[in-house]
Amino acid sequence: MNDDPHNDIDQICARFWQTPRVDQVPHSPPLYLSTVFACDSTEQARQMLAGRQPGYVYQRDGHPNGDMLAERCRLLHAAEWALVTSSGMGALAAVVLAECQAGDHLLVGQDLYGRSLDLLSGEAARLGIECELVDTSNVAAVAQKMRPETRLVVAETISNPLLKVADIPELAQLCHRHGARLLVDNTFASPWCCRPLKLGADLVIESMTKIMNGHADGLLGLVCGRSGDAAQVKRMTSIWGLTASAFDCWLVARGLSTLHLRSERAVANAQQVARFLAQHPKVEGALYPHLATHPDHAVAARMLGDHCGTVVTFTLKAAAGEDPLAAAERFIQAAAPTIPFCPTLGDLSTSLTHPASTSHRNLTPDELARLGISPATIRLSVGIESAGHLEKVLAEALQAA
Ligand SMILES: *Cc1c(COP(=O)(O)O)cnc(C)c1O
Repeated sequence: MNDDPHNDIDQICARFWQTPRVDQVPHSPPLYLSTVFACDSTEQARQMLAGRQPGYVYQRDGHPNGDMLAERCRLLHAAEWALVTSSGMGALAAVVLAECQAGDHLLVGQDLYGRSLDLLSGEAARLGIECELVDTSNVAAVAQKMRPETRLVVAETISNPLLKVADIPELAQLCHRHGARLLVDNTFASPWCCRPLKLGADLVIESMTKIMNGHADGLLGLVCGRSGDAAQVKRMTSIWGLTASAFDCWLVARGLSTLHLRSERAVANAQQVARFLAQHPKVEGALYPHLATHPDHAVAARMLGDHCGTVVTFTLKAAAGEDPLAAAERFIQAAAPTIPFCPTLGDLSTSLTHPASTSHRNLTPDELARLGISPATIRLSVGIESAGHLEKVLAEALQAA
């Protein structure tokens, strides 16, 4: 046995698990992929697992990359507390699981993100939580539906794809008069355009997969709050397995470092693109909250000022008797590959999507028409290219449509 030239390999390999301590501060944040951390003593393990002492034991309960990112988000949102989750949907799930009980009633914006509606009106119902849809851009309509057991009102700062703007201060006041709490999905705004907690909201969620990361390579969610039970949200995240991946936290922390620069450029571009589209003869109507023609322009001006997000929605003018979908198809083909058809938002480069065949594909033609979405409606997520380049590409694609 002793003659075996490989007989010490297993002992060498065993030492590989002894991680060296680094006592200097690295200039860029390290990535901690370790799923588990060594405890110094039984007493330390007990204290950390009980949450009485800071530190890490097992990755699902918390990890350094998650905490570092959450702290940055807490500062951006001027929040009391912030937690990251595996995705935007994970954030919504964690809030519902932490805040709601069977018998509770929820008032939910009828044009919320499709998967959020699936969760709130489908999945939550299975847990005995009643969900009622309402137009959250109409505060009087929300007031009429308030009940003593209404626990949460759920609204999006800027909705998809009509870019309706929720009046967060008014909704928050209404909620607080009735003992309910306001949960805002701020994905389409990001804290650069809106900080809902400062306007009175109680809880904010975001899909950091979108604008917060900005590089379309990480899936992540955020929950933050002004008050409320952070420990319970954290508990739900661990118990239901909604923990954020350390690698995605590292990527999003990196993307977040340029949020202000990306947003400044993309929002200015979106303004210019919206004005360009609004006056173009091949466009029937352009929607952007900064345009005076947008139905929610007054609320947007008050709440968002010049920071109205990076999404612009418009409908192509189809020739008389022509199938509007054909015009959309021609536009999409002509815009690619410079502006790809990618159903997301918030990336560095401009992309487009077609609501009638993606986010709103399950609606009937009548329901689509009632909302004002046509088969010729295109949603643009404006990126950080030069505005002149963008206008040129859009002008050419409109010519072809
Ligand atoms: C994408 C999105 C979500 C879901 O986020 P994921 O990170 O994809 O889970 C929720 N709300 C809005 C408004 C979104 O755009």
